Amino acid sequence: MRVALPLLFAATLFAQPQYDLLLKNGHVIDAKNNIDAVRDVAIKNHRIAAVGTNIPAAQALKAIDVKGLYVTPGLVDMHVHVYAGTGAKGSYAGDLSVYPDPFTLRSGVTTAADAGSSGWRNFPDFKDRIIDRSKTRILAFLNIVGNGMGGGKIEQNLEDMDAKATADVAKRYPGVVIGIKTAHYNGPEWIPVERAVEAGTLANVPTMVDFGTFRPERPYQELVLKKLRPGDISTHMYLDMVPMLDENQKLLPYLNEARKRGVIFDVGHGGGSLLFRQAVPALQQGWIPDSISTDLHAGSMNAGMKDMLNVMSKFLNMGQSMQAVVAESTWHPAREIKQESLGNLSVGAPADIAVLRIARGNFGFVDSYGARMNGTQKLDCELTVKDGLVVWDLNGISRDDWKTLDKHYKAQGANEWDGTLNSSVRSRK
Ligand SMILES: [Zn+2]
Repeated sequence: MRVALPLLFAATLFAQPQYDLLLKNGHVIDAKNNIDAVRDVAIKNHRIAAVGTNIPAAQALKAIDVKGLYVTPGLVDMHVHVYAGTGAKGSYAGDLSVYPDPFTLRSGVTTAADAGSSGWRNFPDFKDRIIDRSKTRILAFLNIVGNGMGGGKIEQNLEDMDAKATADVAKRYPGVVIGIKTAHYNGPEWIPVERAVEAGTLANVPTMVDFGTFRPERPYQELVLKKLRPGDISTHMYLDMVPMLDENQKLLPYLNEARKRGVIFDVGHGGGSLLFRQAVPALQQGWIPDSISTDLHAGSMNAGMKDMLNVMSKFLNMGQSMQAVVAESTWHPAREIKQESLGNLSVGAPADIAVLRIARGNFGFVDSYGARMNGTQKLDCELTVKDGLVVWDLNGISRDDWKTLDKHYKAQGANEWDGTLNSSVRSRK
């Protein structure tokens, strides 16, 4: 019998499926690789292993039929506030933030960049509290204010805007700190913008600007035409205060000049920053977003913004194509924050995937001033895969019907592809 053992071993090896997870027959939209067609996507060892036609289901430990659905890279939301749990009252470095996983994964978001809730002083606490404990890949723009978005006077303190200290911490966490942020400044000075750009230059990362109070001493036109570098980001692009349309509703020409310089324009919907009366006429004149982001926080998620899919759906209903909306929510933001392994389905990339459905019917969407826009399309997320593991499955499409299982069935799935069952459930024998 000794001779049988190597044979048995060889047979086991042979039977090992080539892939851990296979999504079959979905409509793949991958802007980086110019794919807009029905394809199968195969995953092995938490990475994209193959994208092709007719990959046999038998070659995977788990195959899921996603016919009729869109398969996109995991969504990249580059403006969120997720520094929750500190106890700080009325602050984005506290109560106004949300924990990411309960809001991201169910919306297809696998990567989210916190937009300046922490600064160089409290970034280590943010990292320990949130970044290191979340399933969602959390990246960060460091606030130019050392104490981050502590609210009130903290964010107005010019003394605490230290470009070098900020850049030093950014450089200590490459690939995690992906940019610098300035926000919420009320004064007439350019100092917050200048220090944030200086820190961005020192750390070789982009700077994102929330312009705070718009004041005549520092015109927005000057921000985007002079102060920002190519690759820097103006978020809240459809905000009320942004000069956008002339009295005849014509798009102001300086906007396209700024874009030509290489300045990036990002949605950052949030609680107060997207108005249909700005966005609809601007989009009709070609003023489309470079990237779509939510500005997710405790206030915006229960108001007009809701979630990433709702914001993307608004752009579908304002006339953008599914291909454009997906690109603006995946590859574009990944490129803007210089994380080019993300936001695409290239072989070897982390296996982050969203499986989306376009529901057709009568829907309503709400802007930041509480005005409604009627629409006929709305995105839902059926399945989210993060690093090769299913982390969200709305209708159980990765699951077997319980009636087909053994009457004493135990925990389903396998560690190679299933990230939804907690370990205590899986350990019950
Ligand atoms: Zn924000």
